[in-house]
Amino acid sequence: MAKNAKKHTAECPLYKKCGGCQLQNMTYPEQLAYKQRKEERWLSKFCHVEPIIGMEDPHHYRNKVQAAFAWDQRHRKVISGVYQSGSHSIVPVNDCLIEDRKADEIIVDIRRLMTSFKMQPYDEDSRRGFLRHVLVKRGFSTGQIMVVLVTGTPMFPSRRNFLKALLELHPDITTIIQNVNPYRTNLVLGKQEQVLYGPGYIEDTLCGCTFRISAKSFYQINPVQCEKLYRTAIDYAGLTGNETLFDSYCGTGTIGIIAAKQAKNVIGVELNRDAVKDAISNAKRNDINNIRFICGDAGNFLSAIAESDEEDAHVDVIMMDPPRAGSSQEFLDSVLKLSPPKVVYVSCNPETLHRDLKYLTQYGYSCEKIQPVDMFPYTSHVETVCLMSRVEGK
Ligand code: SAH
Repeated sequence: MAKNAKKHTAECPLYKKCGGCQLQNMTYPEQLAYKQRKEERWLSKFCHVEPIIGMEDPHHYRNKVQAAFAWDQRHRKVISGVYQSGSHSIVPVNDCLIEDRKADEIIVDIRRLMTSFKMQPYDEDSRRGFLRHVLVKRGFSTGQIMVVLVTGTPMFPSRRNFLKALLELHPDITTIIQNVNPYRTNLVLGKQEQVLYGPGYIEDTLCGCTFRISAKSFYQINPVQCEKLYRTAIDYAGLTGNETLFDSYCGTGTIGIIAAKQAKNVIGVELNRDAVKDAISNAKRNDINNIRFICGDAGNFLSAIAESDEEDAHVDVIMMDPPRAGSSQEFLDSVLKLSPPKVVYVSCNPETLHRDLKYLTQYGYSCEKIQPVDMFPYTSHVETVCLMSRVEGK
């Protein structure tokens, strides 16, 4: 930094306490440059790394916001916010730089209503009180809003009037759910759920397809950048309508469902049973009939396919989007055995991507394109799409 250059000060006063954003000490262009360097450090030995795709406006991108509620004994009032990183104390938050504004407004109004309704926050130690967390999800393209009130007990005093008051303040809320979580746990949501208003779910659209989002279902939290990520991945797959595509680690089926119109058929593989259920209903909702989903370990599934002599063993493109730990040896060995012309790797961790690329490029693949996408501005996370193709004769 030049001698007289002013050091950028964090935009958020809670930066250090909250811990949710790691790059608050940088301007947005600095953050992008930092992420680009990180990507190049891990990946440029495989091929040229394209310039990272950033956001036009990197603020308020999170479509899912959750707040914990507690009684602040010192100031004798209810507070809501996030847990301080590595602790169980709450940092009060009214508005956050990266969260959806509307969601934050709803949470603050719920906190205000608690006072007039004499509603107590739930206390885990004494097991007294009522409201534990509030979760708000908003479909950015549909405008639909879900509010989940997570309570410590199922009894909801003055329920009708509370809902009426909340809907008067925010008539654009489309559904309200009560989730009961009486357990001593770090998990926000409990098992028991009751729809109090509206259909119990919201919908959103991504790349022209519609997805149903329930209280518990996983959905990408930055839909604006997610569209760019998915478009890049599907573009890299180079589909013409004749291909069999494997969507491995498919979550609720989003990539496969969006790609299905351009492929002959798609097989999605996912470990989480609830995500598979959502994937099946998402495919139906979009009238996609050339896709099926398998619930199981992606490595197991792929190696079973690689061992079989059936028609099933034919695959043109493997799309893979594993969690942070990257893919498994079994999965990578099966990729090499099946040896499809193209592999598209979507990764949320350049370090494990580096490890897996090293293996695949050693045994028959070459890296063609690498595109970083900034899905989580102000945090240190970076997402990457990588296209690999089979090297003939290897
Ligand atoms: N492609 C999806 C989800 C990616 S997140 C999307 O874009 O939304 C990674 C997914 O891999 C999670 O849904 C997780 O449940 C799943 N997963 C983790 N380990 C797995 C395994 N061994 N086999 C199959 N799926 C796995």
